[in-house]
Amino acid sequence: MANWLTGRVKNIKWWNDRLFSLILNAPIEGFKAGQFTKLAMNVDGKRITRAYSFVNPPKERDLEFYLIKVDGGNLSCPLSNLQKGDEIEISSVSSGYFTIDEVPKSEQLWLLSTGTAIGPFLSILQQGDVWRSFQKIILVHAVRAIEDLCYQELIFNLCNKYTQLKYVSIVSREVNPSGLEGRVPKLLESGALFQFCGIEPSINNSQFMICGNPQMVKDTSVTLNQMGYERNRRSTSGHITVEQYW
Ligand SMILES: Cc1cc2nc3c(=O)[nH]c(=O)nc-3n(C[C@H](O)[C@H](O)[C@H](O)COP(=O)(O)OP(=O)(O)OC[C@H]3O[C@@H](n4cnc5c(N)ncnc54)[C@H](O)[C@@H]3O)c2cc1C
Repeated sequence: MANWLTGRVKNIKWWNDRLFSLILNAPIEGFKAGQFTKLAMNVDGKRITRAYSFVNPPKERDLEFYLIKVDGGNLSCPLSNLQKGDEIEISSVSSGYFTIDEVPKSEQLWLLSTGTAIGPFLSILQQGDVWRSFQKIILVHAVRAIEDLCYQELIFNLCNKYTQLKYVSIVSREVNPSGLEGRVPKLLESGALFQFCGIEPSINNSQFMICGNPQMVKDTSVTLNQMGYERNRRSTSGHITVEQYW
């Protein structure tokens, strides 16, 4: 059960007028890269709680969350108004199975995300274990506009440090000179994503983690199913592990 603590806002970094990172300090219990915790606020006399994935790796003291300010959003809007030094409630216990120890070892690991759902992958990539379990890791970030491609400095530092990492940006509503255009399921189906990476997955050597918009998670899972990939289940190992944000 959630045990609530009072945390303090250390910083808020705005990437554009909708996307921001919230950096908190709070003495929470340990967590695994890929997990989420809950944040809560009292808004107009009503307590509202929502789940947020860690961006930071477990070893770091600063707790970082990457958020979108949803239009009329009950909690994301009040969270976006927080200032440095403000207090915020946070669950001391983290949850979730969207972690590397739930994914069978394989040669290739495809990390497919939309929007803010790149967060758990950045936590996973900053933590050591993933580099020992997979020889090729492909981080795919699908967004609407170029300005939504956040965390570029961190991503490029990771790419420089780990040659086994490949980063692919996908933009759906603008020209994308440095990556692909369109949507993840179609780019999988056409083979354009694999061609762009110069990496061909197969059912014998690949795992896919998918996170974010439920429609993308569903459509991508269906596309991968049609290609012969199956969901990882407690009873049987497959190739697909998912997390939906709403
Ligand atoms: C396991 C898990 C982890 C999550 N981690 C994050 C995270 O790291 N960052 C984050 O921003 N959100 C994350 N979410 C979503 C988050 O919990 C809230 O749903 C989100 O902040 C909106 O809450 P709200 O009260 O402002 O909106 P509400 O008033 O509850 O409205 C909900 C609507 O907001 C939209 N929405 C929700 N989340 C998103 C999103 N991420 N991007 C675009 N539209 C969205 C959907 O249309 C949804 O129907 C996560 C959800 C889950 C289940």
